[in-house]
This record gives sequence, structure tokens and C-alpha cells, in this order.
Amino acid sequence: MIELTESQEFLVRPRPKGTESIRSLLHRLIRQNKLSPRLLGESQGVAHATTTALALAASAGWQSENILRRGALIPTPGISEGTISVGISRLGKRSFVGNQRRICPQCIANRSDTPLAWEIYVNRACHIHGCLLVDRCSSCKEPLEWLTYDLGCNSCGNSLSQMTTHEAPKWARMLSQWVHMSVSRSIRGIREDGRQVSGLFRVRLDKLLLLLDVLRHVLLRRWLSARVWDQFNLPWAVELLKSPDFRFWLWNALFLHAAKDPMTLAKALVPNGTGLSSASFFDHLSTNAPIPVFVLDSLRKLKERRLVSQLSSLEIFDPRLHGIRPAMQVMSQFGSKESRRDQTHIREFHEEVLEDEEAGILVSPC
Ligand SMILES: [Zn+2]
Ligand SMILES: [Zn+2]
Repeated sequence: MIELTESQEFLVRPRPKGTESIRSLLHRLIRQNKLSPRLLGESQGVAHATTTALALAASAGWQSENILRRGALIPTPGISEGTISVGISRLGKRSFVGNQRRICPQCIANRSDTPLAWEIYVNRACHIHGCLLVDRCSSCKEPLEWLTYDLGCNSCGNSLSQMTTHEAPKWARMLSQWVHMSVSRSIRGIREDGRQVSGLFRVRLDKLLLLLDVLRHVLLRRWLSARVWDQFNLPWAVELLKSPDFRFWLWNALFLHAAKDPMTLAKALVPNGTGLSSASFFDHLSTNAPIPVFVLDSLRKLKERRLVSQLSSLEIFDPRLHGIRPAMQVMSQFGSKESRRDQTHIREFHEEVLEDEEAGILVSPC
């Protein structure tokens, strides 16, 4: 841990850029002032980086509130201000931010900072270039380090902007837009939701992460076999969240469940704790949630019989009827024009996801 006296001043005081992350800011401070990297301590965990950045805030000319938001830190109501529920790793809580540095080689040619969106690890892609983020040197395969010299790989010197990139799958590009949008709203301190424009939904980062969490760890866990879940949970979660109706239904369901205990309502609506603990809090939803047609049809396509065999007892998500319709009714319309259009969409979606899987892109994230 660093010790600073009040009079300590930095010669160069970098100003936080747009959506820059805490670690990026600290590394710029170190580089520009030619300080020892030991200032960051041995661990590069984001909790440590946050504490360090907060300790340096006044002398570096940074606002502590603004710093906290740049760690993907979500203030939990009822817990003292500055307590970190997302982004922390060293206190045994949940971390949505990985330690491994990831970059977009095309962006890095033109920018000196690392945006927070690259650190949120459900995110795989650059929202500008639509390519997968790179975490290893493409020539020597060593993991990229945070403190690099001359913007190159520390092992072989290959320039970061020359690293090989691959186009990200469609769902990952969509998710990267959402994460970017949410990060910039959160850093600017905007709490309310914005208008949805062309498939992009604008919500706070904590809300986006909670929706993804519950969808993957509660609903899709119940609907999919372990094998299918491993392969598809993230692409399917993105596909389902694309529907404003389903999203609206899901958020309402989360809210109503959390509101059963008004004392802890606000706390229940941020993704704190571990993936498992938020899953167990919302577990009740899994028995009552209506299944989107997309899920049912996809399972049929994958020849997964488990859910399909329980059809008569299932309820299907239908936005026109307050969210729910008996499954048998939906199945009786199988073969209609509308249903054929859905089938084509599902076939294309799966062909794409399977291709990505073959290309080794779908590594199941936590
Ligand atoms: Zn880029
Ligand atoms: Zn290298």
C-alpha cells in the first residue's frame, strides 16, 4: 500500500478521459510522471487499484466519486458509501472486471487510454470496430501486460496496433454496444434509463449486468441442459434481451420479487454477491417464468427433448397477452407464416453461433 503525504504533487496530472478505467488512469499517471510501477503494489486487482487511485485522487486532481464509477463500482444502498459491490476481487466479493489486459488493436493506434468497457469481462468486442478484444500477443502468445513500453508486447516487442484481430460474432458486437452505452451512462452518473434506439438499449451498468446475470444463471440454467448452457448461455441471453418486451417483463419480474421485502429492495436490485447468491435470491423466478418461443424452438432445433416433452405444462412468453400463453396454443400455430419467419431467424442464429464455436470464439465466461 502506498503512503502519500498531503504535500505530494505530481508533475503531470492526467485527466480522466471519456470512459477510461481506473487502472488505465493509474498507468498513465505512472508513465507520464516516470514513477515506479511499484506504486501500484504487487496485485493489480481492481479493488487494490481503486484504493490506490482514491488515495492519490486529491494530489492527482481527480474527483473520488468519478474515480469510483470508473472501476465499475456500484454503490449498494444501505452499505456505507464507497463500498464496492462490483469490481472488487480481493475482499471475496464479485468481480465483473477481469485482471487481464484486453485491447482493440485498431483503437489502440489512436488512443492512449483503456476504456472501462474493455475490462468488463462479459464483453468480448470493441464497440467501434466490431472485432474481438485481444488479450495475448498474436506473435509470441504471451498475455498482454498493463504497463507496456512503446505500446508493444513486453516479451517480443510486437506493436499492440499490429496484433491480429478477428471479427466478433453478431451477438458479441451487440453486447459490446450495450456495455459501452451503460458504462458511459454510469460514469456520467445517469441513473434513469434512456430511450432505446435501433436495438441499443440504454440502461445503467448495474441493471444490464443484473439482467444478464439472472437470465443466464437462473432462467437459462433451468431451461437448458448443462451442455447447451455451457455452449450458448451468453449468446442466448443477448438474443433474448434484444426484445424490449421480454426485457420489460424480466425487469418487472425482478422488481416485484425484490419488492417483497421493501427493506432490502434497493440492495436486491444490484448484482452484488456471487453469481450463485444472486441466482439463489431470484431462483423463485425460474419456476414461474414463461419461456420465450425462441428458446423452445432453438431447443427443438438442437434436438433437446427435455423441455419440449413437458410442453403441456409450460407457459410461453407472449407480449400481447401480458406475457403468458399456454404452450399448446403456440404449438398449434406451428407452420404459420409468422412461425416460419421465426424458424428462419433461429436457423441463421444457430448456424452463426455454431460457426463461432468451431472457430473457438465461444469460451464460456463466468
Ligand atoms: Zn476498436
Ligand atoms: Zn509478444
